[in-house]
Amino acid sequence: MAYIKIDKEAFAFNLKAIAKQTGSLDKIAIVLKDNAYGHGLLLMAQLSSSLGIKHAVVKNLAEAKEIRECFKTILILNDKAIYDSKYFFAINSLQDIKNTQKHSNIELKIDTGMGRNGIAISEFDEAIDLIKEKRLHLRGVMTHFRSSDVLSSEFFWQYKKFESIKTRIKNLGYVNIRFHSHNSSAILRSKKFNDDLVRVGIGLYGYNELDKAFESIKLKPILSLYAQKTTSRKIKKGERLGYGGDFIAPHSMSVSCYAMGYGDGWQRTFSSTQFHQILGRVSMDFILLNTSKPEVCIFDNAQTIANKFDTISYEVLTSLSKDINRIVL
Ligand SMILES: *Cc1c(COP(=O)(O)O)cnc(C)c1O
Repeated sequence: MAYIKIDKEAFAFNLKAIAKQTGSLDKIAIVLKDNAYGHGLLLMAQLSSSLGIKHAVVKNLAEAKEIRECFKTILILNDKAIYDSKYFFAINSLQDIKNTQKHSNIELKIDTGMGRNGIAISEFDEAIDLIKEKRLHLRGVMTHFRSSDVLSSEFFWQYKKFESIKTRIKNLGYVNIRFHSHNSSAILRSKKFNDDLVRVGIGLYGYNELDKAFESIKLKPILSLYAQKTTSRKIKKGERLGYGGDFIAPHSMSVSCYAMGYGDGWQRTFSSTQFHQILGRVSMDFILLNTSKPEVCIFDNAQTIANKFDTISYEVLTSLSKDINRIVL
């Protein structure tokens, strides 16, 4: 069996580090999309709430419903807006506004350079007219950076565009609008934070993904993945293991099988004799290792895996199956 440990102390440590950057715990919205980056949606919502986090961000309404009781507000990044006092829906296009249920709580997303979701700055006036027409409650205005993790001017010109929108909103007489733009990398590099909220995902899970050029704030990964042994055997030189018999024993050795594979989210490309001495191909539910320990910690730092196998921590984490048992320590 594979299982996951979540380190509560490490999470509290990361939360403190981010709160220091924002100036207040109340300005932190934890991003819990995609099963809380593989950490477990409800488990992370409850943990967040127990440590005083009041706001969350999720992918869709289904995720929001699962954690509704844990937060004061839940921002839903991509779903059809309905009225609910706690749910705030991101508006990704003019068409989104037309599709909303009357009186819904919405947050207007502005595309300042990401080129993914959000209305263009040139569509701003039309968006405001539509929002009034449908009697929607505008609760927030947001944008998303495309390169907050690298040292360049991009972050600054995108923020300048966002500031111009802030001014326009305020000039229209709107009050109680929450403005937010920063993800983890942006808040970790920030020297003077000027928004009302941050949307922090990867940082709270313990990863600083900022370019090396930045002064680094230390964070602690909170998730570790374990696999337990099913069988052990001794093999002779020349014996072959796993699908295709890819691994050929260079000498006699002891080999054990562990219950974890690509079905659990340990991707098939994550096979390498240089990593934990994974022998042969990763199967759907099993891997073979050159050890006989009753259980092994497969990883406690997703960045190490990501660097080794040419991906990013986000992908290593979100790949982890929902069905793996998760425990908080
Ligand atoms: C996923 C996401 C975030 C969080 O990004 P991190 O790099 O994990 O902090 C913030 N905002 C939006 C719009 C997102 O989609």
